[in-house]
Amino acid sequence: MNNKFLMPLYLLKDHMNNLIKGEKHDWEMVIGLEIHAQVKSNSKLFSSSSTKFGSSPNSQVSLVDAAMPGMLPVINKYCVEQAVKTGVGLNAKINNYSVFDRKNYFYADLPQGYQISQYKYPIVGEGKVTIDFKDGTSKDIRIVRLHLEQDAGKSLHDQNPSKTYVDLNRSGVALMEIVSEPDIRTPDEAGMYISKIRSILMYLDTCDGNMQEGSLRADVNISVRKPGDEYGTRCEIKNLNSIKFIKQAINYEAKRQIEILESGGSIEQNTMLFNTSTGKTRPMRNKEEAHDYRYFPDPDLLPLEISKEEIGKIKSSIPELPDELKNKFIETYKLSNYDASVLTAEKQTSDYFNETINSDSELKNHAKIVVNWITSELFSLLNKNNQDLINSPVSPENLGQLIKLISTNEISGKIAKDVLEDMFSSRKTARQIVDEKGLQQVTDQGEIAKVIDEVIAENPKMVEQYLAGKDKLLGFFVGQAMKLTKGKANPKMLNDILKQKLNKKN
Ligand code: ADP
Ligand code: MG
Repeated sequence: MNNKFLMPLYLLKDHMNNLIKGEKHDWEMVIGLEIHAQVKSNSKLFSSSSTKFGSSPNSQVSLVDAAMPGMLPVINKYCVEQAVKTGVGLNAKINNYSVFDRKNYFYADLPQGYQISQYKYPIVGEGKVTIDFKDGTSKDIRIVRLHLEQDAGKSLHDQNPSKTYVDLNRSGVALMEIVSEPDIRTPDEAGMYISKIRSILMYLDTCDGNMQEGSLRADVNISVRKPGDEYGTRCEIKNLNSIKFIKQAINYEAKRQIEILESGGSIEQNTMLFNTSTGKTRPMRNKEEAHDYRYFPDPDLLPLEISKEEIGKIKSSIPELPDELKNKFIETYKLSNYDASVLTAEKQTSDYFNETINSDSELKNHAKIVVNWITSELFSLLNKNNQDLINSPVSPENLGQLIKLISTNEISGKIAKDVLEDMFSSRKTARQIVDEKGLQQVTDQGEIAKVIDEVIAENPKMVEQYLAGKDKLLGFFVGQAMKLTKGKANPKMLNDILKQKLNKKN
């Protein structure tokens, strides 16, 4: 028997979709992400300075953040709780005991000469997150660890032609570094993984998720291999702050590596930078130049011990997370896994859906329609107008009313699209617009039949062709009849009556 047919379906899918064709072989990408998420907290990890974004340079720098001699760091309990909360949200093991280490390196924006981080004993251990594909399947990405560390300052190279300035506002801000196993296989999966992490953190309220402001950014590790081979040598692309760039960088880097390997070369383990204007990666340093950070436990800080009780207390304060909410939506409204995951990806979307579907008791029976109107029609209008769901000109109640008009056959779905656009720009309700413009659907059999008779009488040649077997012409007749009713005829009735009348001619 051919073994291929015994392969589990998800593997077959892997083989069909996830490989890149090289000149000589098929190649598979192996990707692992190190995500840096800024802890949502008013003050820094070891000082009471503000973390507010966008303040004037060096206005939020305490003596600790500036590494003045003799200053001592004091751990911010709230940041620790935020990290624990995040660990719980990532289905991960929370470690009762963790240690802050000094990671030593020299850089102008790092006045201490070392970064306080966690190395051997991170606060959070192994966990996993699930990503959902459009075809209904899903996949777990394993998390190796989450550790707490402080951010560095920022060098400003564009303020003066011959000088670099340093802004220490960011120095000492708490970061969570979330490290994945190399379980990711495609740029899309990488995008889905970081979106999912972002979503969980935002539901937890432990990170604001603002990638543009750098609150969430990732180092991407990537290697390629022939399917079934051992992992290859990886390169690490530093500091990417958008999903688009992450995907572009992976695609470019994979191709670069494949070209080298196929021409007989080997991959050097490099740290790379991604140029967002050219879409190319270039080496920043190679393994030989890699830092020896000389980690050692920070003598100014005691090991961090968290009791079971404290962890329990934090656990009980965790809000409903996207996966739980997703399962609830699937169960309550019989939605597909994918629809439910799209709805729960962002808290504002699940809130909007909840408000819409609860605005009228009838709508619970039309959940799929509600999903479609939010995720395709409303989203595309918001996109086109560069607006956010939070400030949507169409309220959940008003969208609910529009969907009710469709479900009770008062207006057709097609006309409803125009009504939604009108609602969006005029901020009127669906009811107002339908009444003002007289858009109610025509459901009078006689009226529809009359229009169809007209169309049939006006197009004898087409009728002949249709009857001779050119079935496609049905659409033409429907279109003509719709035109005459200004799009208001009930589509199902129109189709039924049209078919009846045409078939009678046979
Ligand atoms: P380091 O401590 O040197 O950064 P880690 O083992 O912590 O190395 O790995 C860092 C990241 O690289 C992790 O996210 C991991 O999943 C990823 N990674 C490890 N090996 C590979 C590989 N062969 N190809 C792609 N990514 C990898
Ligand atoms: Mg690393």
